[in-house]
Amino acid sequence: TPLTVGFIGLGHMGGPMAANLVKAGHRVRGYDLVAESLKTAVAAGVEPAASAADAAAGADVVITMLPAGRHVLALYQDEGLLAAAAPGTLFIDCSTIDVADARAAHEAAVEAGHLALDAPVSGGVTGAEAGALTFMAGGGEAEFTRAEPLLAAMGKKSVHCGGPGAGQAAKICNNMILGISMIAVGEAFVLGESLGLSHQALFDVASTSSGQCWALTSNCPVPGPVPASPANRDYRPGFAAPLMAKDLGLAADALRASGIGSAFGIEAAKRYAEYAAGAGAAEDFSGIIRMIRQQNER
Ligand code: NAD
Repeated sequence: TPLTVGFIGLGHMGGPMAANLVKAGHRVRGYDLVAESLKTAVAAGVEPAASAADAAAGADVVITMLPAGRHVLALYQDEGLLAAAAPGTLFIDCSTIDVADARAAHEAAVEAGHLALDAPVSGGVTGAEAGALTFMAGGGEAEFTRAEPLLAAMGKKSVHCGGPGAGQAAKICNNMILGISMIAVGEAFVLGESLGLSHQALFDVASTSSGQCWALTSNCPVPGPVPASPANRDYRPGFAAPLMAKDLGLAADALRASGIGSAFGIEAAKRYAEYAAGAGAAEDFSGIIRMIRQQNER
C-alpha cells in the first residue's frame, strides 16, 4: 500500500532514494536546507515541504539522510520534528552516525511516542540511484517489518542486525575491515614493488590465495589487474576517501568508548584522515596506496 513519507536530507544519497520511493508509488514530502537539492528532488516527483517539521506532519514514516549524528540529533531533540508527527510515526534514520547518537535518537523518538529504526546503507551514490542499496537495520522486529517495503523500494537487501544502534554498529565494523584491508593491500603492493614483484603476479597469487579480499579483487588499488577498479581512472571515486575517513573516525570513537585495544582500527582512522585531508580529498579510498608509496620513497 502506498505510504506518505517525509524525507529529510535530499543530498547525493537522499535525493535518488526519495526518487525511488516516488517511483514505487509512495507519496514523498521532502525537505532539504539547500534549495537546489530540494529542486532536483521535486523534478523527480517529490512534493516540497516548507520545513523538516512540515515534512513530518501527516507522514506515516519519516526518513532522514543527513551528514552526521549532530544533524540527526538536532532534528530529533531540538527542532520540533518529533512533535509535528502523529503519534506512532516510524522514524527511520539512514545516515551513517555514531552508535551512541543512534541510540540517543531512538530514545528521543520513543519518548515522543514514536517508533524508530537506524538503517544506514552501503552501495554509494550509484547504488542509491539504481535502488540497489544494502540496508543494515537496528531496532525492533515490528519496526523492521514495517520499514521493509520502503527499504525494498530503495535497495536490494536489508539485514536486521539487532536492537537500536545495531545497524550503525554493523556499518562501522564492516567499513573498519575494509579500511584496514585496503591499507594492507596497498602496503603489500608497495613492498612487492620494492622486491621487484610485478603487480599482476602478486594479484594472480593473492587473489586465489589466503590474501584474497574485496579490496584486492574488486577495488584493486593498482591499475591493470581489475579493469573496473578506480585505479584505472586515476582514482576517481568510487567510494571517496573522505567518506572512508568519516566511517573510520566513527569506528575509532566506538573503539575508544568500548575500551577495545584495536591498534589497526585506530591507525587506519589516522591514515585515512591524513589522506582525505590532502590528495585524497576527491579520490577513491584505494588511492591511499599513493600516499603509502610516497611516504616510503627514499
Ligand atoms: P550530502 O551532504 O550530499 O547530503 C546531506 C544533505 O542533508 C544535504 O543536502 C544537506 O543540505 C542536508 N541537510 C543537512 N542538515 C539538514 C537539516 N537540518 N534539514 C534538512 N536538510 C539538511 O551527503 P550524502 O552523500 O547524501 O550522505 C548522507 C549520509 O549517507 C551520510 O551520513 C553519509 O555518511 C552516508 N553515506 C553516504 C554514501 C555516499 O557514497 N555518498 C554512502 C553510504 C553512506
